[in-house]
Amino acid sequence: MNSILDLKEVGKIYKSGSRSLTVLQDINFSVNPGSTLAIVGPSGSGKTTLLGLCAGLDRSSSGTVELHGTRLNDLNEDQLASARNQYIGFIFQNFQLLPTLTALENVMVPLELRGEKNIKSRALDLLDKVGLAERGHHYPTQLSGGEQQRVSLARAFSNNPAILFADEPTGNLDAETSEKVVKLLFDLNKEAGTTLVLVTHDLELAAKTQRIIRIKGGRIVSDQHT
Ligand code: ADP
Repeated sequence: MNSILDLKEVGKIYKSGSRSLTVLQDINFSVNPGSTLAIVGPSGSGKTTLLGLCAGLDRSSSGTVELHGTRLNDLNEDQLASARNQYIGFIFQNFQLLPTLTALENVMVPLELRGEKNIKSRALDLLDKVGLAERGHHYPTQLSGGEQQRVSLARAFSNNPAILFADEPTGNLDAETSEKVVKLLFDLNKEAGTTLVLVTHDLELAAKTQRIIRIKGGRIVSDQHT
């Protein structure tokens, strides 16, 4: 099976002035399309950095990241942005909705960027899918954390991503709300075959995925199928 994500000898060094910090080293793994994976490890071990490299939000210092058949290392900034628009979804712990736009407008942004038609009704359908059709006119500050995360899921689903990256998607949510968000993620995996790559502290959530990669000090220390 061709993998959807393939990392070879990936390393990341952050440089600031004369100082440099090695955050990831010797990272090798590949991910089957349609599968689910959790990346776990202590705070500061490099999980968010790794997710960002996989999703084309940042660049590796060494090695190669191949996503959806494309070597991200070879792409310029515009091409990376276009890849993110076309087949990558990303959700963040702090939701990252645009505060000056309503829920509906937040979901419309990526549709507009891709020059799609009927974006308002498509965005409404997406909000409906996450149970928020009635809240489209609300601004992010008028929504609870769980509702904001569901809006960000609707936004991330808008391009039918081949792969969805989620950084601590339930980190700011209570148990009941987390359950709703987790169900939406796994429904997307089952119904649309979207590959899920999650970074999480929540071992119960990690155990719901098919595979757990544990990192410590910037290196993979275990890679297990659940
Ligand atoms: P985790 O997600 O596991 O908590 P991170 O990937 O956020 O780990 O961070 C790993 C290390 O990289 C930490 O020591 C952090 O301080 C450092 N780091 C993260 N982002 C940057 C950055 N943009 N510049 C410099 N250092 C960074």
